[in-house]
Amino acid sequence: MAIEVGGEANPTPSEVVIAATGSRPGIPTYSIAPGTNVVDVAGPVAASGVVALWDPIGGPIAVALAEALGARAVLITPDQIAGNELSRTGDLAPANVRLQQKGVRIERRTILRAARPGEVELEDRFSGARRVLAVDQLVDCGFRLPDESVSTADIRIGDCVAPRTIHEAILEGRRAALAIDGVR
Ligand SMILES: Cc1cc2nc3c(=O)[nH]c(=O)nc-3n(C[C@H](O)[C@H](O)[C@H](O)COP(=O)(O)OP(=O)(O)OC[C@H]3O[C@@H](n4cnc5c(N)ncnc54)[C@H](O)[C@@H]3O)c2cc1C
Repeated sequence: MAIEVGGEANPTPSEVVIAATGSRPGIPTYSIAPGTNVVDVAGPVAASGVVALWDPIGGPIAVALAEALGARAVLITPDQIAGNELSRTGDLAPANVRLQQKGVRIERRTILRAARPGEVELEDRFSGARRVLAVDQLVDCGFRLPDESVSTADIRIGDCVAPRTIHEAILEGRRAALAIDGVR
């Protein structure tokens, strides 16, 4: 694949800036009161206490974190089942078995509406009924966004283009390197 750098074909390495700065946290879809212990999925998880995991994606990350936290975890999902997207890999049923075995509490068909110090406010997706859960920390396992902070970059690779997986980051990094003269 040919990558054009600043309109110039095959520049030398010293002339090229490759941005590989990863992703940044997404925009919360719920209110956050001042003083609330809320972290993005890449942030530090509390060493003790009840941790609520907001998982609007249904992918492997929130499920894996919930498994690691065990009975300290409350997994909040808008879906009817935890880790909805795991059906693609065949891990949907096994993951739900593991979550049950680890004692994870699962709040199904639920939307996170508000995070306040010591609690989260949840809404039933079908009935609209609201309820409050006491938690010590909220971890937002939702979608992250591209990081465009390095505006002077000639080439962008990986999650700073669009948050995906390690596979794309390595592939695009390799393509970028090969596009620069003298790196072969
Ligand atoms: C919790 C979690 C679990 C994941 N699990 C998986 C998984 O199991 N499998 C998988 O394939 N993918 C997984 N991913 C996605 C994977 O981590 C990313 O797709 C991948 O790391 C992207 O690589 P990257 O090099 O683009 O960015 P990153 O790995 O995020 O690296 C970016 C680096 O740039 C640094 N940086 C940022 N700004 C600057 C700056 N201005 N100057 C200098 N350095 C800077 C950052 O500190 C960071 O070290 C997971 C992501 C998360 C958040």
